Amino acid sequence: MDDTIVAMATAMGETSIHILRMSGSKAGTIIEECFEPQNMERWSRRENFTLNLGVFRDELIVLDEVLVGRMLAPSSYTGEDVYEINCHGGTFVAQRILQTCIRHGAQLAEPGEFSKRAFLNGKMDLIQAEAVIDLICSRTETSANLALTQLRGGLSETIVSLREKILETLAFIEAGIDFPEDDVETLDRETLEIRVNMALSDTRHLLAGSNTGKILRDGLLTVIVGRPNVGKSSLLNALLQEERAIVTDIPGTTRDEIRESVSVGGILLKLVDTAGICESQDLVERLGIERTWKALQEAELILLVVQANVPLTKDEYHILNIYSEKVIIIINKIDLLGKEEIISEYKDGHWIPFSVLQHSGFEELEAEVRRRVYQGEAVLASDPLLSNVRQISALERCDASLKQASESIKMGMPWDILSIDLHEALHYISEITGHDVQESLLEDIFSRFCIGK
Ligand code: GDP
Repeated sequence: MDDTIVAMATAMGETSIHILRMSGSKAGTIIEECFEPQNMERWSRRENFTLNLGVFRDELIVLDEVLVGRMLAPSSYTGEDVYEINCHGGTFVAQRILQTCIRHGAQLAEPGEFSKRAFLNGKMDLIQAEAVIDLICSRTETSANLALTQLRGGLSETIVSLREKILETLAFIEAGIDFPEDDVETLDRETLEIRVNMALSDTRHLLAGSNTGKILRDGLLTVIVGRPNVGKSSLLNALLQEERAIVTDIPGTTRDEIRESVSVGGILLKLVDTAGICESQDLVERLGIERTWKALQEAELILLVVQANVPLTKDEYHILNIYSEKVIIIINKIDLLGKEEIISEYKDGHWIPFSVLQHSGFEELEAEVRRRVYQGEAVLASDPLLSNVRQISALERCDASLKQASESIKMGMPWDILSIDLHEALHYISEITGHDVQESLLEDIFSRFCIGK
């Protein structure tokens, strides 16, 4: 980590400004060599977190008028001396500044290298580092808030406290193994069982919320399905608030899938509008219908659109039977019915009376999506939730090891066996924050970042 790294922090292309970021022990020297501040007196005071106007030079040639931000170690993002150069937003200018920094001794940064340094210098743990990418990639207010809670250490606190519980219990067990005859403070089996079960209840609680966390982060793959002409494309367009799919009263106009994403009740729905399910002689339409059945298998949520007061078909019953857990039934075109008719026809079930035409039913749909994701409000978006697969699977393994430990206690197993189970639990929980993590995993995580982050 002796190298000083530099990269564009903004996407290439013509824009109002570009920002270059440089971090490392030589960053200060490189800036001194290339940057001529307008206010030399202020610059020489080396005040931290200041923005300084001046010109950036390559030897005698002035490349641009720039603003240089100075963030000194250890309070910068990476924990090293960091300089950010704000230049005019032409690719040519930014590239010249970048090349000049490299000529003066900086290395071009790898993707995620700034964040990796922040992690290695103890400025953030792995949960926070992963939250940085999640925040950048978030597409709804809820997913951004979730990432921000994680970035600000909300989830890390919970995981660290669970880790400490496991660590403490392990320390007592090991004291009992190492000094069985001595008068060291060890735990009796009953207290040990209580401690392990408490840790286990924490992991269970976290895992219970993780499904919600994952959905808030990644969204739900949502398939809109139904007979031709029931209003599937109209529903898609209304949700997207644009004319994305063709709407006609001619059946069979959507022959292929249309994929779009939209936030419904703060949840990202990755919508797939499918070809209407029916008996068709048309080859292209039949292929479309085949895809619809495939899409249903992958779906995490199914919006089954049916027409008010028209009996369900065999196919619709089939969908309801197989995928009942993930189906919401949209009874569309209720504007064609009288109120009495609606009430008598659809008394029970997961149906939502709808009229895309009159824009009614959307609030109920939003509420139903939220109810399913938040498990009837048992989980709150503001809770520190685990949300990515890596973290969830490490916690599942930690949970399994704790369960094993709990069973070993019940079976009266010797303490060194318990110690093995708890060591495993400790390893997995430590993997989540990065207290115990292999270099290859770090590389894998940080390579998913963009350059300059
Ligand atoms: P799809 O084949 O299922 O995608 O159905 P479309 O969205 O293409 O709609 C078929 C026809 O039903 C069009 O003429 C729409 O204007 C009409 N339609 C859609 N929603 C409603 C509704 O809520 N009420 C009424 N009366 N007509 C609707």
